[in-house]
Amino acid sequence: SVSTAAALPILTKLQNDCSTPLPVLRHVADAMATDMRAGLAVDGGSDLKMILSYVDSLPTGNERGLFYALDLGGTNFRVLRTQLGGKEERVIDTEFEQVSIPQDIMFGTSEELFDFIASALANFVKKEGGKFVLQKDRSRETGFTFSFPVKQTSIDSGILMKWTKGFAVSGTPGKDIVVCLNEAMGRQGLNMRVSALVNDTVATLAGARYWDDDVMVAVILGTGTNACYVESVNAIPKLQGHKSISGKTIVNTEWGAFSNGLPLTEFDREMDAESINPGEQLFEKTISGMYLGEIVRRVLVRMAEESSLFGKDIPKRLRTPFTLGTPNISSMQQDTSDDLEAVGSILYEVTGMDSNLDSRKMVVEVCDTIAKRGGRLAGAGIVGILQKMEEDSKGIVFGKRTVVAMDGGLYEHHPQYKRYLKDAVKELLGPEISSNVVIEHSKDGSGIGAALLAATNSIYE
Ligand code: ADP
Repeated sequence: SVSTAAALPILTKLQNDCSTPLPVLRHVADAMATDMRAGLAVDGGSDLKMILSYVDSLPTGNERGLFYALDLGGTNFRVLRTQLGGKEERVIDTEFEQVSIPQDIMFGTSEELFDFIASALANFVKKEGGKFVLQKDRSRETGFTFSFPVKQTSIDSGILMKWTKGFAVSGTPGKDIVVCLNEAMGRQGLNMRVSALVNDTVATLAGARYWDDDVMVAVILGTGTNACYVESVNAIPKLQGHKSISGKTIVNTEWGAFSNGLPLTEFDREMDAESINPGEQLFEKTISGMYLGEIVRRVLVRMAEESSLFGKDIPKRLRTPFTLGTPNISSMQQDTSDDLEAVGSILYEVTGMDSNLDSRKMVVEVCDTIAKRGGRLAGAGIVGILQKMEEDSKGIVFGKRTVVAMDGGLYEHHPQYKRYLKDAVKELLGPEISSNVVIEHSKDGSGIGAALLAATNSIYE
């Protein structure tokens, strides 16, 4: 029909601009490895910050005792306790609670925020019982997963650089957040110390390693994206005077800031220009859950403007940024019905668009194009990290089983994205090496991971 004909060139151009043939993937993987080296050489040497986590020892399975974890990374925070019983009994029991942070606390003072957290934690501790037993003559210890930009100075200290994700708490930037929390726990009369301050990627790696000694990399693909991996201390020139008994340390890549050689479209550039951080986090804007739906929406607006595919008028909701979420994209891609009924109703309910079978098919193609590019580039990023590790260690990574622990809502709930990611890894590594690389979902490893890191970094061990 006439209407499809006008939208088709837009789709064709999009597919071209987003295509990720092997040479593009290879370039991204190589550039990731190169940027990692540059970031390890000197602070500010690369798009990748390559932040030192000060986590030098990972869980072995021998951990014993009662440990807590506290996770602050968004509008909710979680408290968790776990009773560990060593190699035989493993995780004897785990309990957690989630508390949402009231708006006035997110815009309040530093003391108010940390008092709120410490008081929720104190209430949770009061309910300790059953299988949870604190060892004699010990204070409680907690891991603290804090997913905001922190300049870490040791495993149990870190200066907040700035609040993000809607937090505007006054007085914390420039302060050591572990000191803030310890003081607040003191005010609550809670006898507990923070023994490990970690980022969520690092906690995921620790949580997965507890069950599997071959875990070397962790990747989060949720609203945002990040990756960390096990690095040799002597491969980090910028690390001076740091002693690690194991000779290893976890490096947080902050790979969302990667930007080298990405196949970007005019829709990506416009979204970036209108974002709160133009020119920043380009890899994140191409592969993570916050953005995939928004890129699709921008393509659909263009198609609606230049063809009659979606009717005469463009609904206001379709013109509103971020109305179409990545979960909507995923749901539309799962529609296997002949008339694409689910696609039609999602389009109508979410954006107000009318559609027919032709336009629905077109929409699914757009969704698939954006998900495919995202998944394949994420896969290339993973290969970049593995490649860097292999180049330094000759055979330690590719010559034996190596596990990449994955977490995050996008990876977990978008089957095509996951498929594309795995396919790209296979294409890049070839059948032999890729049979040694296991890409594995590590569900909610980060909560227990922080508690495990509190155990491995306990002052009593
Ligand atoms: P966060 O990254 O916000 O800490 P999650 O790891 O749970 O939390 O990821 C949530 C994100 O995952 C959402 O913002 C969304 O982008 C993505 N997501 C959730 N469900 C789906 C889905 N069904 N399909 C695709 N993406 C999804």
